[in-house]
Amino acid sequence: MRIIGIDVHVLLEPSYDVSATSSAQDNLVVEIHTDEGVSGIGECDVNPWMARACILAPGTHTMGQGLSDMLIGEDPRNIERIWNKLYVGSAMNGRRGVVLHAMGAIDMALHDLKGKLLGVPVYELLGGAVRSFITPYASLQPEVSDFNAYRNSLAGWATKAKQLGFRAAKAECTLFGPYSHKGLSGTPEQTTEVVAAVRQAVGSDFTLMVDVQYAFPNADACLATIRNWEPYDIYFLETPIWSDDLDGYARLAREQPIPISAGEWLATRYEFEDLMDRGLASVVQPDPGRVGGLLEAQKVCDMAKARGRKVVPHIWKTGISISAGIHLAAANEHVPFIEFLPKELCESALRKELVIEDFGMADGQIPLPTKPGLGVELNRDALGKFKEAADKAVRDRIL
Ligand SMILES: [Mg+2]
Repeated sequence: MRIIGIDVHVLLEPSYDVSATSSAQDNLVVEIHTDEGVSGIGECDVNPWMARACILAPGTHTMGQGLSDMLIGEDPRNIERIWNKLYVGSAMNGRRGVVLHAMGAIDMALHDLKGKLLGVPVYELLGGAVRSFITPYASLQPEVSDFNAYRNSLAGWATKAKQLGFRAAKAECTLFGPYSHKGLSGTPEQTTEVVAAVRQAVGSDFTLMVDVQYAFPNADACLATIRNWEPYDIYFLETPIWSDDLDGYARLAREQPIPISAGEWLATRYEFEDLMDRGLASVVQPDPGRVGGLLEAQKVCDMAKARGRKVVPHIWKTGISISAGIHLAAANEHVPFIEFLPKELCESALRKELVIEDFGMADGQIPLPTKPGLGVELNRDALGKFKEAADKAVRDRIL
């Protein structure tokens, strides 16, 4: 069996807003096709035009190749062999970042394909299921532009998540810093006010995570704010400071009690090794579409297990990545939650419409998937609509 083609879809939300800090507005989806008529789908979380270039660019030398040239003709069942071939053959294109994110989409599609070929869900390819249910947490990010609306929106959405049956939710409390969007400009004290409002809204019998999205300039500034957060019972605090400040992360781990999580942007097991061993992160958050795929995400899980850390995968795209996260959690005991973006609580049409899926969530839990592969399908009408929006954006920019 051989891979005979790869379709690379650049997708954009028709109503996208460049000033909004949300990667839910774009997507890069790949479909890998075989000579036996079976195909697999995958996606990654990075500027889709850039990822497409990594896949389709012509090669110029043995370690400056485009990914698709190395993929065509391979037996899709040899996922690790293909991963290593792509990693070495694209080494001088970066070894991290967008190249690895694009490889993540390909790896995800290969797992989907192999699962379909063998007639098994993807978790069987990751070592087999170790649980009957996966627990999602609702990820909540308001799309408003003033403080009161932000606080009220987040408290309202958290309440709705609880009513929908969720047992956990993450509040994106981002009033300042690089992720602050739509003109928001708040203070650390207001961040605490939002956290307090959300905790009050959901009550004490509910797991609450907080993501400040790199808002604090350094560990000192973060410590000054979160020292008073003990009453809010935070399950983890996500990316409080810039991703490269690993010594700052280590200080936060040593000097206050809230577990610190990070890793959503990282690529490869090697970056996670630094995050755990130098940054001392308690919870690591590989995104299958960024770390380099499910194979690499599983390697991160293995490393975290050996160090006694938890893994809570980052997922900010469509049902394709959500499914990848479900299968990863199914195969790993130390993955207590996955990030989940319920359609009722998000505003991205791309996220709501691109994929036909039914994860069957009931009572705050997702049952073990039973379909072969990832178990999700593309909605072809929606795919066409989002491709057209991406083409239009390019035309408008040239004009
Ligand atoms: Mg985050």
